[in-house]
Amino acid sequence: MFGIYLHIPFCRRRCKYCDFITYAGKDELMPGYYAALISELRHQANTLQDLPSQVDTVFFGGGTPSLFKAEWIKDLIDNIHKEYGLAKDVEISLEANPGTLAPGFSASLLKAGVNRLSIGVQSFIDRDLALLGRIHSPSQAVDAIHSARRAGFSNISLDLMFGIPGQSLADWQTNLRQAVALQPDHLSLYSLILEPGTQLFDDVERGTIQPVSEDLSADMYEMALDSLVEEGFSQYEISNWSRGEAFEARHNKIYWKNQPYLGLGAGAHSSINGLRVANTTSIEEYIRRVDDLQSSPKDAFPAAEETLRLDPYTMQQETMMLGMRLTREGVSKLEFRNRFGKAIEDVFSRELERIIARKLVEWRTFPDGPHLVLTRGGILLGNQVFQEFV
Ligand code: SF4
Repeated sequence: MFGIYLHIPFCRRRCKYCDFITYAGKDELMPGYYAALISELRHQANTLQDLPSQVDTVFFGGGTPSLFKAEWIKDLIDNIHKEYGLAKDVEISLEANPGTLAPGFSASLLKAGVNRLSIGVQSFIDRDLALLGRIHSPSQAVDAIHSARRAGFSNISLDLMFGIPGQSLADWQTNLRQAVALQPDHLSLYSLILEPGTQLFDDVERGTIQPVSEDLSADMYEMALDSLVEEGFSQYEISNWSRGEAFEARHNKIYWKNQPYLGLGAGAHSSINGLRVANTTSIEEYIRRVDDLQSSPKDAFPAAEETLRLDPYTMQQETMMLGMRLTREGVSKLEFRNRFGKAIEDVFSRELERIIARKLVEWRTFPDGPHLVLTRGGILLGNQVFQEFV
C-alpha cells in the first residue's frame, strides 16, 4: 500500500486546544500554496526512485482542507492520477470542518473525486464547542452530515472528542448516542490533550478552567469501548471504530502498518525508501522553496526541514509501536518476517516476555498465521505496550 497526504494549513480561526501546523488569516496565500503543491507532487514523481506503481490512498488533511476550492482539490487529484496512477479502488479522504461545508460543496467534492469525508464534529453540545473554540454549532455539524449523505457520500467518518473540561459521563454518552444516530460509517474518538502553547493549556495553568480527571477520561473511553460494539461498530485501532473492515481508514492504516507515504505541503511528513522527511512548517518558506526548484532540480524534497535515514532496528521498533495500535489485527508474525528477515520474538524477546506476562498482549490466529494483538487490558493501557518498542 502507498499513500499521498496533502496538508492544507489554513483555518478560519485557531481552536483553543489546537497545536497543529495551521494558520488563520493567511487565506491570500492559498492560490500560491495550491500551485506549489502541484509543483511539489510533479517534481517528486519525476525525481524519486523506486516508487510503488500506484497510489492506494490520498488524504487531504489540515488545517481545514474544506477551505480549499473544489476545483483545486480536483486538479490535485487529477495530477496525482497523471503522475503516479491511482488504484482502481483508491480511497480519497478529505477532512472537513462542519462550519465550512456549505450546501452544494459536498457534491462538488464528490465530483472532484473525493470518496470519503472525515467530519470534525468534536461534540454535539454547544458548551463544549464554545470551550474548544470551534467555529461551528452542533446543528451545523448535523446539517453537514446530512448534506454529505444527500450528495452521495457512502463513506463518512466523524471525529468526536472526550475529556473536554466540564464534560460529564452523561454528556459523553449523549455525544456517542447522537453520533451513532447519524449512522456514520466510521468514528474517531480522541481524548483532549492539553498541549503547551495553546489557549486551553494556559487557561488550565491559570486555574480558570478545571481539566477532566484521568479517571473520568478513562471511564469515557471504556464507555465507548462497550457501547459502540452494541451499536454494531468494531474497534480496529486504539481511537478508531468502523462498520466493518470495508470502512476502516485505509490511509491511516498505511501509517500504522509503517508502509510508504509521501506528504506534500508545509509541515507534511514523508516516509519512503527508509527515509523520513519533514517539510518546513512555514507556508511562505514552503512556497518559496518549491518555486525555487531550478536551484536544486535533483533534490526530491525541496521543502525538507529535516531528513532522517532509518536503520533496520528503528524500522522494526516503529513497525511494532505503530502496528500494536491496530486492535483487531495487531502485527502479523509472517509480515514482520517477510519484511525484515527476522522473527518478532527474536528481535523483541524481552519486551514480549514482559507484556505477555502482564496479559497486555496475546497471540491470535489469523489466516496468515499468528498475530500479536492487544488484549482488552492492553487496549486500556496501550501506552505501556507502545513504550516497550521505543
Ligand atoms: S479546525 Fe482543526 S486544524 Fe483548524 S484550528 Fe481547529 S483543530 Fe486546529
